[in-house]
Amino acid sequence: MIPITEYAGRDVAVYGLGRTGLSAAKALAAGGARVHAWDDGEGARAKAEAEGVNVSDINKRDWQKFAALVLSPGIPYKFPQPHRLVRMAEMMNVPVVGDMELFARAVQALPEKGRPSIVGITGTNGKSTTTALIGHILKEAGRDVRVGGNIGTGVLDMASLNANAIYVLELSSYQLDLCHSLHCDVAVFLNLSPDHLDRHGGMNGYVEAKKRIFANQSPRDISVIGIDDPHTQAIAMGRQRPGQGRVVQISSEFGLARGVSAVDGHLYDSTAGQAIRVGDLADAASLPGRHNYQNAAAAYAACKALGVAPGRIMAGINSFPGLAHRMETVGEVDGVRFVNDSKATNAQAAEQALKTWPSVHWIAGGVPKAEGIAPLEPWFDRVAGAYLIGESKAVFAKTLKDKVPTTKCGTLEAATQAAFDAARASGQPNPIVLLSPACASFDQFKDFEARGDAFREIIERLADKVEPAKAAAV
Ligand code: ADP
Repeated sequence: MIPITEYAGRDVAVYGLGRTGLSAAKALAAGGARVHAWDDGEGARAKAEAEGVNVSDINKRDWQKFAALVLSPGIPYKFPQPHRLVRMAEMMNVPVVGDMELFARAVQALPEKGRPSIVGITGTNGKSTTTALIGHILKEAGRDVRVGGNIGTGVLDMASLNANAIYVLELSSYQLDLCHSLHCDVAVFLNLSPDHLDRHGGMNGYVEAKKRIFANQSPRDISVIGIDDPHTQAIAMGRQRPGQGRVVQISSEFGLARGVSAVDGHLYDSTAGQAIRVGDLADAASLPGRHNYQNAAAAYAACKALGVAPGRIMAGINSFPGLAHRMETVGEVDGVRFVNDSKATNAQAAEQALKTWPSVHWIAGGVPKAEGIAPLEPWFDRVAGAYLIGESKAVFAKTLKDKVPTTKCGTLEAATQAAFDAARASGQPNPIVLLSPACASFDQFKDFEARGDAFREIIERLADKVEPAKAAAV
């Protein structure tokens, strides 16, 4: 844990007791603050209490005595409208901060030589993969590396600050919105497309939140920026001014004259002017598809900036085990392969999966994003059949009408069975059933992990039913 001493002897309100709220409450208490932690959910409060956190109803406290409100990133800060307690804090001049801001200030409070290196990663898609990949490469290269933030371990739950360590942090737009002091030695900005716009008051707010990753960078620092979409292209151009730190452009679409590019599955480093082929991404079994080449190019550029030799970086890319719920093969039953891409919560993410295989039996649906699946139309010819679940099934069926054979299944169980039956009957050589919902999961599951886990369990049950029956028939 990283104790936060900034509020020692003072009262701090913590609102939202999920993973990050809990760790903030504990880190503040460990640093000597009087913590008043609250969550509207009874279960979350009971859990916090059981873990020794001082739960107290901040709705009823005197806000004049609070030195800060630590807000969980899941709670609306400014849009669609500020949460009632955010308004209360603003009215009482109580600063609103997130756990990442507390971390950033704890780092800044150290003498310059005692500060660890920080690599921040943001973008609309690929953050977790790239964060885990950078962590893996650095670990394999023998560095003292800690991975966390929006992935796995909350930032304040990470091992205590150490000048020789490298902190690799996944940063969501919500976290960046609540953070002003973070200084990234290496800032990675992968890509940008419309997402979470309701929480940022539109595209401008979303871009501005994400651009905070570059705040506080000095000319010594490095920003690694993907330039495969118009938004990040503009951001990369804007950062090419003197005094802003060195920009390393990366692309999985174009061969760059200067930068790191993945072209036809080969990774090229032309940061010194001349393009050097540094490796073959086809050898990286857990990073299939062009989108993962973007992640690999970014990880390469970030690790090189930290002084890791290209050969060691490529060894790390090739030995990366991959992350669950991202194009993860979770089983094979009677020749049908099941791919769990539950993490694909928007059309851009699902597009990457549809692009990867020439034909799939596609399970999609849930709580749709504003654009639905219309942007995926160029890939509909790769869909042998669509099996729709959740809230979006009627809207998605409309988009697919006359283009793709579609079944409105409702539940994931029914969809998996229907897709399996169709895949088996298709006569295709190695049929694939793909769960890549292009939707959030909240209508039917707690989160994307629960959705992916449910898919895995359904497949295990299917295998238990089908394989013994097959064996008995032989
Ligand atoms: P994030 O943490 O940003 O949500 P993940 O690494 O968890 O990203 O991947 C989420 C989904 O996005 C996966 O379904 C994956 O197929 C897709 N994806 C991963 N990397 C990229 C990328 N660079 N560009 C577009 N989509 C991507």
